[in-house]
Amino acid sequence: MPVVPLLILGVGAVALWVLLARADQAAAYLEGSAVGAALGLDRVDDLGELDAEVRSQIERVYARLRARGYTPLVWETYRTPARQAWLYASGRTREGSVITNVQAGGAHQDRLAVDTIDGRSHPSRPGYYGWGSWAAEYGDQATDDDHQADAGARDFFTAYGEEIEAEGLEWGGRWTGSLGSDDPHAEAA
Ligand SMILES: [Zn+2]
Repeated sequence: MPVVPLLILGVGAVALWVLLARADQAAAYLEGSAVGAALGLDRVDDLGELDAEVRSQIERVYARLRARGYTPLVWETYRTPARQAWLYASGRTREGSVITNVQAGGAHQDRLAVDTIDGRSHPSRPGYYGWGSWAAEYGDQATDDDHQADAGARDFFTAYGEEIEAEGLEWGGRWTGSLGSDDPHAEAA
């Protein structure tokens, strides 16, 4: 093949690659937007979207946690196939860390899983306790409040795991796979 058509092909391929990479980056910022909603990418936190039996189990778990003085906050229930694929892409074909090894299907998509976080507010920083650690996030800047918040979150997730397992559900805090434990996660056993 002559050189010029080869060059055109090469430039075209690079342009396509740049466009796709940009679209992928944009996808990381779609959550909560009209586009994200239209594509089914948004996080669903409605217990009513769960399988009826799992929903009853989770509601009993939350009631017992509240009686113990905790504030469980439902973070995510049902996932669309589009959202599961979008989460799987994180750290693989778009920016971010790897957060799931489930590319398609999975307990969230089957309405059999819930993610719950500690709904108490941080004494000095915005946000809630879920995955990760305040002390790790702030590193050298971490305060006593951050360490206390981490300790409180550990207490919460210990209690959550107890109540989840008391219902016969599987608790992600026991997991030891490549992504480590998933404390907020619970699913039908
Ligand atoms: Zn989960």
